[in-house]
Amino acid sequence: MVSKAQILRWLQVFASEIEQNKAYLTELDAAIGDADHGMNMDRGFKKVSTQLPTLSDKDIGEILKTVSMTLISSIGGASGPLYGTWFLRASTAVALKQELTEQDVLSLLQVGLDGLVQRGKAQLGDKTMVDVLSPAVVAFRLAVEANKGIVAAMQEAVAAAERGLQETISMQAKKGRASYLGERSIGHQDPGGTSAYLMLKSLLEVLESY
Ligand code: ADP
Ligand code: MG
Repeated sequence: MVSKAQILRWLQVFASEIEQNKAYLTELDAAIGDADHGMNMDRGFKKVSTQLPTLSDKDIGEILKTVSMTLISSIGGASGPLYGTWFLRASTAVALKQELTEQDVLSLLQVGLDGLVQRGKAQLGDKTMVDVLSPAVVAFRLAVEANKGIVAAMQEAVAAAERGLQETISMQAKKGRASYLGERSIGHQDPGGTSAYLMLKSLLEVLESY
Protein backbone atom coordinates (compact mmCIF):
# COMPACT_ATOMS: atom_id res chain seq x y z
CA MET A 1 0.00 0.00 0.00
CA VAL A 2 1.07 3.54 -0.71
CA SER A 3 -0.16 6.00 1.90
CA LYS A 4 -1.29 9.56 1.35
CA ALA A 5 1.75 10.69 3.34
CA GLN A 6 3.97 8.89 0.85
CA ILE A 7 2.22 10.60 -2.07
CA LEU A 8 2.79 13.99 -0.44
CA ARG A 9 6.38 13.03 0.26
CA TRP A 10 6.83 11.96 -3.39
CA LEU A 11 5.69 15.38 -4.60
CA GLN A 12 8.06 17.03 -2.15
CA VAL A 13 11.00 14.88 -3.21
CA PHE A 14 10.21 15.48 -6.89
CA ALA A 15 10.04 19.24 -6.31
CA SER A 16 13.45 19.18 -4.67
CA GLU A 17 14.91 16.93 -7.41
CA ILE A 18 13.69 19.50 -9.93
CA GLU A 19 15.27 22.30 -7.93
CA GLN A 20 18.58 20.43 -7.71
CA ASN A 21 18.50 19.61 -11.43
CA LYS A 22 17.20 22.96 -12.63
CA ALA A 23 20.46 23.96 -14.32
CA TYR A 24 20.91 20.49 -15.81
CA LEU A 25 17.39 20.45 -17.29
CA THR A 26 17.92 23.92 -18.70
CA GLU A 27 21.26 22.89 -20.20
CA LEU A 28 19.59 19.92 -21.92
CA ASP A 29 16.86 22.22 -23.24
CA ALA A 30 19.48 24.76 -24.39
CA ALA A 31 20.91 22.12 -26.74
CA ILE A 32 17.66 21.30 -28.56
CA GLY A 33 15.05 23.80 -27.35
CA ASP A 34 14.85 27.23 -25.75
CA ALA A 35 16.67 26.65 -22.46
CA ASP A 36 13.65 27.01 -20.20
CA HIS A 37 12.71 23.48 -19.12
CA GLY A 38 14.49 23.68 -15.77
CA MET A 39 13.02 27.08 -15.05
CA ASN A 40 9.54 26.01 -16.18
CA MET A 41 9.50 22.91 -14.01
CA ASP A 42 11.05 24.64 -11.02
CA ARG A 43 8.53 27.47 -11.13
CA GLY A 44 5.63 24.99 -11.15
CA PHE A 45 6.98 22.63 -8.52
CA LYS A 46 8.05 25.40 -6.16
CA LYS A 47 4.39 26.43 -6.16
CA VAL A 48 3.32 22.83 -5.62
CA SER A 49 5.82 22.54 -2.80
CA THR A 50 4.40 25.51 -0.91
CA GLN A 51 0.88 24.11 -1.33
CA LEU A 52 1.66 20.63 -0.03
CA PRO A 53 1.15 21.40 3.69
CA THR A 54 -2.41 22.59 2.93
CA LEU A 55 -3.30 19.36 1.08
CA SER A 56 -2.97 16.79 3.85
CA ASP A 57 -6.69 16.53 4.57
CA LYS A 58 -7.59 15.98 0.93
CA ASP A 59 -7.82 12.56 -0.70
CA ILE A 60 -5.09 11.46 -3.12
CA GLY A 61 -7.24 12.22 -6.17
CA GLU A 62 -7.82 15.79 -4.98
CA ILE A 63 -4.13 16.21 -4.16
CA LEU A 64 -3.06 15.21 -7.67
CA LYS A 65 -5.79 17.36 -9.19
CA THR A 66 -4.59 20.39 -7.24
CA VAL A 67 -1.04 19.72 -8.47
CA SER A 68 -2.37 19.60 -12.02
CA MET A 69 -4.15 22.96 -11.71
CA THR A 70 -1.05 24.56 -10.20
CA LEU A 71 1.19 23.26 -12.98
CA ILE A 72 -1.19 24.34 -15.74
CA SER A 73 -1.51 27.83 -14.29
CA SER A 74 2.16 28.39 -13.46
CA ILE A 75 4.27 26.62 -16.08
CA GLY A 76 4.70 28.15 -19.49
CA GLY A 77 5.84 26.06 -22.43
CA ALA A 78 4.77 22.63 -23.54
CA SER A 79 5.61 20.95 -20.27
CA GLY A 80 2.96 22.83 -18.22
CA PRO A 81 -0.08 21.49 -20.05
CA LEU A 82 1.59 18.11 -20.54
CA TYR A 83 2.48 17.51 -16.89
CA GLY A 84 -0.81 19.17 -15.98
CA THR A 85 -2.66 16.65 -18.10
CA TRP A 86 -0.63 13.77 -16.68
CA PHE A 87 -1.54 14.76 -13.10
CA LEU A 88 -5.16 15.54 -13.96
CA ARG A 89 -5.71 12.18 -15.64
CA ALA A 90 -3.73 10.36 -12.95
CA SER A 91 -5.99 12.01 -10.36
CA THR A 92 -9.10 10.48 -11.96
CA ALA A 93 -7.58 7.01 -11.59
CA VAL A 94 -7.28 7.43 -7.81
CA ALA A 95 -10.32 9.59 -7.02
CA LEU A 96 -11.41 9.58 -3.34
CA LYS A 97 -8.59 7.26 -2.25
CA GLN A 98 -6.67 7.65 1.00
CA GLU A 99 -4.14 4.97 0.09
CA LEU A 100 -3.16 3.12 -3.07
CA THR A 101 -2.74 -0.55 -3.93
CA GLU A 102 -0.26 -1.68 -6.60
CA GLN A 103 -3.17 -1.82 -9.02
CA ASP A 104 -4.06 1.79 -8.18
CA VAL A 105 -0.48 2.89 -8.82
CA LEU A 106 -0.51 0.96 -12.09
CA SER A 107 -3.69 2.65 -13.24
CA LEU A 108 -2.43 6.07 -12.08
CA LEU A 109 0.69 5.60 -14.24
CA GLN A 110 -1.23 4.14 -17.18
CA VAL A 111 -4.07 6.66 -17.21
CA GLY A 112 -1.63 9.56 -16.73
CA LEU A 113 0.38 8.36 -19.74
CA ASP A 114 -2.75 7.83 -21.86
CA GLY A 115 -3.86 11.40 -21.12
CA LEU A 116 -0.44 12.79 -21.96
CA VAL A 117 -0.39 10.90 -25.27
CA GLN A 118 -3.91 12.02 -26.10
CA ARG A 119 -2.96 15.60 -25.40
CA GLY A 120 0.50 15.75 -26.99
CA LYS A 121 0.02 13.15 -29.74
CA ALA A 122 3.60 11.94 -29.36
CA GLN A 123 4.40 8.39 -30.34
CA LEU A 124 7.18 6.15 -29.08
CA GLY A 125 10.42 7.24 -30.70
CA ASP A 126 9.45 10.92 -31.05
CA LYS A 127 12.02 11.92 -28.39
CA THR A 128 9.66 13.11 -25.66
CA MET A 129 8.74 12.19 -22.10
CA VAL A 130 6.56 9.45 -23.62
CA ASP A 131 9.77 7.52 -24.42
CA VAL A 132 10.50 7.43 -20.69
CA LEU A 133 7.03 7.04 -19.19
CA SER A 134 5.76 4.41 -21.58
CA PRO A 135 8.45 1.72 -21.03
CA ALA A 136 8.16 2.43 -17.30
CA VAL A 137 4.44 1.62 -17.28
CA VAL A 138 5.05 -1.58 -19.25
CA ALA A 139 7.77 -2.70 -16.83
CA PHE A 140 5.64 -1.79 -13.80
CA ARG A 141 2.67 -3.75 -15.17
CA LEU A 142 4.77 -6.86 -15.86
CA ALA A 143 6.30 -6.78 -12.39
CA VAL A 144 2.90 -6.31 -10.70
CA GLU A 145 1.45 -9.18 -12.72
CA ALA A 146 4.40 -11.32 -11.63
CA ASN A 147 3.58 -10.45 -7.98
CA LYS A 148 6.98 -8.92 -7.35
CA GLY A 149 5.66 -6.34 -4.92
CA ILE A 150 5.40 -2.61 -5.33
CA VAL A 151 9.00 -1.68 -4.50
CA ALA A 152 10.49 -4.19 -6.96
CA ALA A 153 7.90 -3.16 -9.56
CA MET A 154 8.86 0.46 -9.17
CA GLN A 155 12.56 -0.42 -9.34
CA GLU A 156 11.93 -2.13 -12.67
CA ALA A 157 9.86 0.82 -13.86
CA VAL A 158 12.67 3.25 -13.04
CA ALA A 159 15.26 1.01 -14.72
CA ALA A 160 13.07 0.91 -17.85
CA ALA A 161 12.60 4.68 -17.66
CA GLU A 162 16.36 5.14 -17.47
CA ARG A 163 16.90 2.94 -20.54
CA GLY A 164 14.18 4.88 -22.37
CA LEU A 165 15.86 8.15 -21.40
CA GLN A 166 19.23 6.94 -22.74
CA GLU A 167 17.48 5.93 -25.97
CA THR A 168 16.16 9.47 -26.48
CA ILE A 169 19.76 10.55 -27.19
CA SER A 170 19.89 8.86 -30.58
CA MET A 171 16.32 9.80 -31.55
CA GLN A 172 15.33 12.60 -33.88
CA ALA A 173 12.68 14.81 -32.26
CA LYS A 174 9.29 14.67 -33.94
CA LYS A 175 7.31 16.73 -31.43
CA GLY A 176 7.79 20.02 -29.63
CA ARG A 177 10.43 22.68 -30.22
CA ALA A 178 13.25 20.18 -30.65
CA SER A 179 11.54 18.91 -33.81
CA TYR A 180 12.35 22.23 -35.50
CA LEU A 181 15.99 21.14 -35.45
CA GLY A 182 15.34 18.05 -37.54
CA GLU A 183 18.40 15.80 -37.62
CA ARG A 184 20.34 18.22 -35.44
CA SER A 185 18.21 17.08 -32.50
CA ILE A 186 20.00 13.71 -32.69
CA GLY A 187 22.73 13.16 -30.10
CA HIS A 188 21.06 15.03 -27.24
CA GLN A 189 19.07 13.70 -24.29
CA ASP A 190 15.46 14.88 -24.12
CA PRO A 191 14.87 17.42 -21.32
CA GLY A 192 11.23 16.48 -20.71
CA GLY A 193 12.18 12.81 -20.64
CA THR A 194 14.78 13.68 -18.05
CA SER A 195 12.28 15.39 -15.75
CA ALA A 196 9.85 12.49 -16.22
CA TYR A 197 12.62 10.10 -15.17
CA LEU A 198 13.18 12.21 -12.04
CA MET A 199 9.46 12.02 -11.28
CA LEU A 200 9.51 8.22 -11.29
CA LYS A 201 12.83 8.02 -9.45
CA SER A 202 11.40 10.26 -6.73
CA LEU A 203 8.46 7.92 -6.26
CA LEU A 204 10.84 4.95 -6.00
CA GLU A 205 12.94 6.76 -3.41
CA VAL A 206 9.89 7.32 -1.25
CA LEU A 207 8.65 3.74 -1.62
CA GLU A 208 12.10 2.40 -0.70
CA SER A 209 12.52 4.55 2.36
CA TYR A 210 9.16 4.07 4.14
P1 ADP B 1 8.87 24.18 -24.49
O1 ADP B 1 9.27 23.14 -25.47
O2 ADP B 1 7.56 24.81 -24.81
O3 ADP B 1 9.97 25.18 -24.24
P2 ADP B 1 9.69 22.76 -22.13
O4 ADP B 1 11.06 23.15 -22.52
O5 ADP B 1 9.30 23.04 -20.73
O6 ADP B 1 8.62 23.41 -23.11
O7 ADP B 1 9.49 21.20 -22.36
C1 ADP B 1 10.07 20.51 -23.43
C2 ADP B 1 9.77 19.03 -23.29
O8 ADP B 1 8.39 18.77 -23.48
C3 ADP B 1 10.46 18.16 -24.34
O9 ADP B 1 11.76 17.80 -23.94
C4 ADP B 1 9.55 16.94 -24.48
O10 ADP B 1 9.92 15.89 -23.59
C5 ADP B 1 8.21 17.48 -24.02
N1 ADP B 1 7.28 17.58 -25.14
C6 ADP B 1 7.18 18.55 -26.05
N2 ADP B 1 6.17 18.31 -26.90
C7 ADP B 1 5.61 17.14 -26.51
C8 ADP B 1 4.50 16.35 -26.96
N3 ADP B 1 3.76 16.72 -28.01
N4 ADP B 1 4.21 15.21 -26.29
C9 ADP B 1 4.95 14.83 -25.22
N5 ADP B 1 5.99 15.53 -24.74
C10 ADP B 1 6.32 16.66 -25.38
MG1 MG C 1 11.85 24.71 -23.57
